[in-house]
Amino acid sequence: MSVLMLTDIEIGLKNKFISLKARSGSHSPSVFQILNLFGRTDKFVDACFLSNPYATDLFFKYLESDLISNRSKLREKLEYYPSQNNEISSKLSKHLGVDKSRIFIGNGATEIIQAVLINFVNRVVVNIPTFSPYYEFINEPSSVVFYQMNQNEDFHLNIEEYLRFVNDSKADSIVLINPNNPDGSLINKADLRKIVERNKHLKTIIIDESFIHFSSDPGEKFDSFANESIEFSNVIIIKSISKDFGIAGVRAGYAIMSDSRVSMLTSNGYLWNSNGLAEYFFDLLSNDEFLREYEVVRNKYNILRTSFINSLRQIKGIRVYPSKANFVLIELTNGTSSLDFVIAMLNRFGIYLRVGNDKIGLNGEFIRIAIRDMTTNEFILKALGEIYDD
Ligand SMILES: *Cc1c(COP(=O)(O)O)cnc(C)c1O
Repeated sequence: MSVLMLTDIEIGLKNKFISLKARSGSHSPSVFQILNLFGRTDKFVDACFLSNPYATDLFFKYLESDLISNRSKLREKLEYYPSQNNEISSKLSKHLGVDKSRIFIGNGATEIIQAVLINFVNRVVVNIPTFSPYYEFINEPSSVVFYQMNQNEDFHLNIEEYLRFVNDSKADSIVLINPNNPDGSLINKADLRKIVERNKHLKTIIIDESFIHFSSDPGEKFDSFANESIEFSNVIIIKSISKDFGIAGVRAGYAIMSDSRVSMLTSNGYLWNSNGLAEYFFDLLSNDEFLREYEVVRNKYNILRTSFINSLRQIKGIRVYPSKANFVLIELTNGTSSLDFVIAMLNRFGIYLRVGNDKIGLNGEFIRIAIRDMTTNEFILKALGEIYDD
């Protein structure tokens, strides 16, 4: 199979795409900007955005019957202030099985990452490739030490090597994203515990479990460290709900940390940073019927993840990295440039993929593909096959 060749028109689009991307920093340009550039209003597939679309459907179903069709309730949500963070924490407490004094609410997990890095971290080991806010929010005099995950080991964390590295780094803090973004590798609970126990002397251990709901195989429970984390005063669990519940627009997230840290943050400006819709979502987490239905869509989606990865493995010329998250990292191994590939997928099929070449720690031609619903996944697979059969 041959290396992909772009048409002249596609080369023009590629140059425009590059300047658009340069203006969006380390994140991807918005879907609206992309649609505009490629003149697409009809069929467009965003396989860049990470979410479970079935979970979005479920949330929307509840939202419709509870708020949209009940205008006076909707009005209350918009007219009144939401509860303060500590009130929302007590609602979450039962669901998480964690005392409310240890729960911190954020306007999206990104806000929590920033608050935690600024307040509880001086010198931090960040494993790369990673989710960029973990190093972008670090400013002088704080510093970052990068630990390069090994591509030959599928970016899976080598525990002993990592422990030695942390020891030598003189860092006071570490970050573990589990499963990791952008590769989807998972650290199992026993290994995670080992890392935490061997680092009790550190000031802060951040464990970002934003993708943990995707980490189990269909029918299984997922293995969160949330409950065990309370044994360790230096551990902070960070959780976004944007991906697993498919509601990034709601801007909600939470963290579990020592009660003294929660009080320090809430008394320093993070008391009222939630919103009415986020509070509505956190209320749903105490609704057994919602949780039961959520388990169904979680399993349904995790089944798709597994079969999507299996199908990708049939395509020659790409290396597929194992993923326990809701996306797959692939590497083009036949000489095709990842950017050219992304441009061709956009122009020929209207499929938007995440180029990996701006991620530090990813050296090669990488693309991250988000898993969508079944029909969309099939469309993506067909398109990938066609481009590679050129
Ligand atoms: C997307 C993401 C977040 C941030 O999500 P919010 O939308 O701000 O809640 C946090 N951590 C990781 C690893 C992510 O991928």
